[in-house]
Amino acid sequence: MRRQRNVKIVATLGPASSTYETIKALHEAGADVFRLNMSHGSHDEIAERHKIIRQIEDELSSPIAILADLQGPKLRVGTFANEAEDLVEGAKFRLDLDEAPGDINRVCLPHKEIFAALKPGANLLVNDGKIRLQVEDCGDDYANCVVTTGGTISNRKGVNVPDVVLPLAALSAKDKKDLEFVCELGVDWLALSFVQRPADVLEAREMVRGRASVLSKIEKPAAVQDFDAILDVSDGIMVARGDLGVELPVQNVPPIQKRLIRRCRRDAKPVIVATQMLESMIESPMPTRAEVSDVATAIYEGSDAIMLSAESAAGEYPIEAVTTMNNVAIEVENDPTYREVIEASRHVKGESVADAIVAAAREIAETTEISAICCFSQSGTTALKVARERPRVPIVAMTSRRGTARRLALTWGTTTVITEEFNRFKSSVLASVGAVKRMGLATEKDQVVVTAGVPFNIPGTTNIVRVAPCDERLIYASEPE
Ligand code: PGA
Ligand code: MN
Repeated sequence: MRRQRNVKIVATLGPASSTYETIKALHEAGADVFRLNMSHGSHDEIAERHKIIRQIEDELSSPIAILADLQGPKLRVGTFANEAEDLVEGAKFRLDLDEAPGDINRVCLPHKEIFAALKPGANLLVNDGKIRLQVEDCGDDYANCVVTTGGTISNRKGVNVPDVVLPLAALSAKDKKDLEFVCELGVDWLALSFVQRPADVLEAREMVRGRASVLSKIEKPAAVQDFDAILDVSDGIMVARGDLGVELPVQNVPPIQKRLIRRCRRDAKPVIVATQMLESMIESPMPTRAEVSDVATAIYEGSDAIMLSAESAAGEYPIEAVTTMNNVAIEVENDPTYREVIEASRHVKGESVADAIVAAAREIAETTEISAICCFSQSGTTALKVARERPRVPIVAMTSRRGTARRLALTWGTTTVITEEFNRFKSSVLASVGAVKRMGLATEKDQVVVTAGVPFNIPGTTNIVRVAPCDERLIYASEPE
């Protein structure tokens, strides 16, 4: 389905969006990618949502990406005898491995590895950073802390430890089960939470075995530090502002977001900006001005995709939230300043023939009347490179691989058409022109740019750029075989 905007929309599915009708309405309102959050929902529920998405994809014959998001090594405290306790600033509070229910003085933190890594002075943030504890002294199975910010602590609240690289496996036992489950189900993207080092991504990749593309969520200070190396081994990135804003001072998040988006674009890898984009729409049909501005900023910065979490998964107005994102995107992308900003921030890393071909395609589209850039891309790499150019005209990726088509649903400005495999350049040009006309992007009188690789069907061979008329008779008459 071709949209009126280039930035893509990711909608998380959950209890508020698990029926066929709602998921279809979300897609029609603008959701290009659906996120299945493995932190919530049983395998049966996940499988059911997956089935519905594929059914809708079939009915509309438009590729939809499914992104499964693993919970990752999220730390949680145990339970309390009274369910909850109010911790006041200055009080002492102990974390240990004792499974007995907690009280006002202590609670279990059932992660043995953590105690060895903690040091006096380290901060522990509980419940999205609402409570802060500072370690005073610690040993192999305990940490005595002082409460530096008080609040209510309750059963199984999450704990963030920003100051230490945690000696945690990248994937918990649950993650490994979930990973196998979703890979067997068939997802296009697998997101890894709390990535700390490139080795975490490599470990997951080994288990994925090419069944999905791997996206690293940047939500730990260590991952921000080692970002370049993590990007090198990832297929995509999520700026996971929720946990990032807990682990780092919130004011650090916007500059990191800007930097990560630029780096991803330079490497032609899709990047998602996530969390709290339209938070108030969980309960209200209208966003705040600040939220609209936040969505707009991510688009001006050149993000590939913007994401809804609780807004679409558990909120009262999932469809309105997608519609809001869609409307903001259309408005921003029609602003001449958007074009200026996007073009000024084109920093291309790469010196392959394909890089030169896609740059030429973009320049041709800027200098002459061109209706679309059609790029043949088996692995998706050429389409990613075209998208990195952020051309002014629509990008139509042509591929015979369904997996490639679905994965590209996350990429800026790219609409994908699934084609047969071609062996002749002429037939590939004819297919491109046909697709562009069917999509209503061009008429007989127009022309398109086609990029392809000869020999055909071998990834990484893009070496042709052709300006073709949209009139088939002219193609038959003039096109070389
Ligand atoms: P989450 O990740 O929603 O899985 O926590 C996103 C974030 O932390 O921003
Ligand atoms: Mn997170």
